[in-house]
Amino acid sequence: MAQILDGIRVRDAIYSEYKPRIAALPRPPGLAVVLVGHNPASEIYVRNKVKACAELGIYSETLTPPDSISTGELLDTISALNRRPEIDGILVQMPLPPQVDSKQALLAVSPEKDVDGFHPCNVSNLVTGRPGPRSCTPAGIIRLLQHYRISIAGRHAVVVGRSDIVGKPMSMLLLHENATVTICHSKTQDLAAVCRQGDILVAALGRPAALTADFIQPGAVVVDVGTTRITDREQAARIFRNAKDKLEAFDRKGSVLVGDVHPLDVAERAAAYTPVPGGVGPLTIAMLMVNTIEAAERRTAARGGLSSPGATHL
Ligand code: NAP
Repeated sequence: MAQILDGIRVRDAIYSEYKPRIAALPRPPGLAVVLVGHNPASEIYVRNKVKACAELGIYSETLTPPDSISTGELLDTISALNRRPEIDGILVQMPLPPQVDSKQALLAVSPEKDVDGFHPCNVSNLVTGRPGPRSCTPAGIIRLLQHYRISIAGRHAVVVGRSDIVGKPMSMLLLHENATVTICHSKTQDLAAVCRQGDILVAALGRPAALTADFIQPGAVVVDVGTTRITDREQAARIFRNAKDKLEAFDRKGSVLVGDVHPLDVAERAAAYTPVPGGVGPLTIAMLMVNTIEAAERRTAARGGLSSPGATHL
């Protein structure tokens, strides 16, 4: 039986570790979320982030400029947040409307308040192994592997996907943990053969159930980042091979969340794997909280208010 790597359990362990660190600060850490317009998926993500802040005692504020906002107006909003002392972290929820220059918006966030780890300064910190906020999903995956004492050093890690927010930072963090890393993408030849080399396989391609049994080395550790909501019953029936309980759940909800790795194949082939949902997802928000708390610690320490901030990333 493959071991299930439970993201909710790891998230709870992270929160227990960080609650005393919040209490040690002279004021609650502060997170500002900029949510432009009315994208339903973004609204759900932001609601979950705000809820996590409330659970942990992090001050949060959501700014909701209209869809019609210009790049200049958004830059003004961000620079006002950069100047506010009680705000430690700024998150600009993506995607932004087409008229807004997203790259300029991300560049406008002060690197010390960039809790997503997307600013080029923090990407540079990641590459060179200097302290700083790390991209949340990959950082959460490293925490998950460490929590379950899965050795990374010397093992062959195959990462499928090379996005700036998942694939690239994931590969870099695995490299810092001394894995031998292979990065795959849409032009990779014979993807299944490359994936089968992975002692650790991280799937972040955004193609539901695409990595089937022949992509998985028997006994591998498989981390599934993908989350696609499927609303087509026939597609769900194909993926779950008509499993009665899954189809009943689909009929109740009208949809099912599927990862990039085939959910039945991975359970048969892997030694350990993250489920979807309940695997990587909870860790992304947990690491956003960690980045906000650590930003508050660094900013407090810089002002001489905290003698020994807790351990930070690499
Ligand atoms: P993305 O920006 O669309 O990048 C997808 C990557 O996968 C690209 O590098 C692409 O290659 C590669 N790819 C696409 N099709 C492929 C194929 N058939 N074979 C090999 N490589 C292929 O996606 P993302 O933002 O990294 O997200 C990936 C998935 O993770 C999505 O399902 C997303 O919803 C999910 N996600 C989940 C969380 C979470 O918290 N659970 C967080 C972030 C993302 P090219 O570069 O060649 O185009």
